Amino acid sequence: MTTNKLSNDQIKNEGQSTRLFYDPNSLSSFNGYRIVHTHFDLNVDFDSNILYGYVQLDVKPLSNELCDCSSTIKTENKEIPNNYGNQVVLDSRHLNIKKVLLKSNDIEKSLSFQVDIERESLTIEMNDESKDSTISIIIHYSTSNTKCSALQWLTKEQTADRQYPYMFSQCQAIHARSLYPCQDTPGVKSTFTAKVKCPKPLTVLMSGLQTNYDENTNTFYFEQQQAIPSYLIAIAVGKLASYDLSPRIRVWTESSMIRQCQYEFEHAEQFLTAAEQLLGEYQWKRYDFLVLPPSFPYGGMENPCMNFLTPTLLAGDRSLISTIVHEMTHSWTGNLVTNENWEHFWLNEGFTSFIEAKILGNLDKANGKEVRRFHAAQQWQDLQTAVATWGAAHPYTCLVYRLNNTDPDDAYSSVQYYKGAAFLWYLEQDVIGSESDFDEFLRSYIIKFGRKILNTDDFIQYFQSYFPQAPSVDWQSWLYTPGMPPITHDFSTKLEEQCNQLATQLSPITKEQMNMLNAKQVAYLLNVLLNHKSTINRDYIEQLDTNCDMSKYSNCEICFRWYQLCIRVKFEKYLDNIFEFLKVIGRMKFVKPLYAEFKSSWPELIPRVQTFFDEHKKYMNPITVKQIEIRLNSQN
Ligand SMILES: [Zn+2]
Repeated sequence: MTTNKLSNDQIKNEGQSTRLFYDPNSLSSFNGYRIVHTHFDLNVDFDSNILYGYVQLDVKPLSNELCDCSSTIKTENKEIPNNYGNQVVLDSRHLNIKKVLLKSNDIEKSLSFQVDIERESLTIEMNDESKDSTISIIIHYSTSNTKCSALQWLTKEQTADRQYPYMFSQCQAIHARSLYPCQDTPGVKSTFTAKVKCPKPLTVLMSGLQTNYDENTNTFYFEQQQAIPSYLIAIAVGKLASYDLSPRIRVWTESSMIRQCQYEFEHAEQFLTAAEQLLGEYQWKRYDFLVLPPSFPYGGMENPCMNFLTPTLLAGDRSLISTIVHEMTHSWTGNLVTNENWEHFWLNEGFTSFIEAKILGNLDKANGKEVRRFHAAQQWQDLQTAVATWGAAHPYTCLVYRLNNTDPDDAYSSVQYYKGAAFLWYLEQDVIGSESDFDEFLRSYIIKFGRKILNTDDFIQYFQSYFPQAPSVDWQSWLYTPGMPPITHDFSTKLEEQCNQLATQLSPITKEQMNMLNAKQVAYLLNVLLNHKSTINRDYIEQLDTNCDMSKYSNCEICFRWYQLCIRVKFEKYLDNIFEFLKVIGRMKFVKPLYAEFKSSWPELIPRVQTFFDEHKKYMNPITVKQIEIRLNSQN
């Protein structure tokens, strides 16, 4: 197929023009002033569970003529949104703002400001300060000890080693505003430096490279030279151990988990090399990662130079490495090429999920095609579950959705991951019909949009200009229509057929049959059972347990699906295990469906579930708490 490749010179000539954009989830004045560098000077206080100190924002005024606005920008009355003239408006959630200073030539001058708690904003009056050059604003503040949604503070009893307290952040999607005053939109990228002091003998990690350490004061210094959005700012503090997996990869965790991590992620360098072969050179110098306590709300978070991962990946058999491959892949799609607002989240997650399956295939020299297809089949299955959970007509099952007055966390599900991956699969296999041409397109897309932001229209335009002779694509159905995709792919492989046969056979599944399956297949099989509601009853589940002893599985991907089946048929035997699981684990992929299953399948148990939740929520991550409350309070 004929392609229009961009030469490197052409890309350089396009320059880094600052573009104006739209973001329904930030009130900040990013179309008037743009943060270009952030410096943190913070202290970590475990007595009161706060961070305090100051942040310096270097802010560049934008000229109003700069307007290559995207089509999604709202231009009612021809006014550019998020431009408040002489005010710098920042997103600020429950921060205690002490003073705001303007710094120029080492002279600091107070600026007047107002905090709006309801609108979660901090407005700084710039009066007649010059709009000619970059200005530095210093804000002294502290975080809230009860309402900071970005941070979770753990007592020493809540950690694996039980010796010291622990703290970690999760800023995606819009929690950075509770960590520091900022332009909390993925559309603004800033470099950062940081100086963070914490009690001995704890270690601070951040989403940048460590540049220095002062042993006397236990102060850690960091730098991130690549401009990153606020949602990629990350911090963790704890008593941590580390192990070098390769010259550029180091794993961090509590010391009692370090051996397990060493084993589970031993091949991390191979994964990173495979990603580079597909996507081009790794641009962040180091790839380190932290394996967190089990209350971490996600499978992983792609914080640059320091990915965060859930310990539920430590299956002991390296069967759950796809999550680390996923987070690594974000080093290109997401962290270099970034969605301009959360309505285009699929550009981050759909691309990453699609490429993750490709890399897993490329890693398996003997059976790569089969491995990639089976991974894509698992993603398709998870997409079916997610669409069924929302309902096929729900607007959040569109690949691109509207987020006016909606927290992106409330619209979050696997849809944008796996419908996005299915869309790219369709473009590669059905529209272009050549994997190697599509791989080349991916590399060119990363060069074209790397270090920039984009929206769905930019992607469509680029695709069409790159493949000018490609058959037409029904963009409307794929991108803006709810429900399952317009085209159902055939992902069938031997691995999948084996599972489907067992799920549909009339006789009970035997121990021997189950032992033929690998861990991913067992999880897949349980998913098939979950999706075939009519055949599943209590007798079936009890028989499966008698034959196959389901209590022997400790792999969380298997456990949570088995527990969901048990709740569905009211099988009491595993209730204690389920509550124990919910007590320890905060990963929303697992706990959201379990609470939702209690609500829909076992209403008599809801008072007990509610009491359990009320007792334990103080130990849970604030992001997880909010999502469970939504499920427990829902009417259906
Ligand atoms: Zn992701």
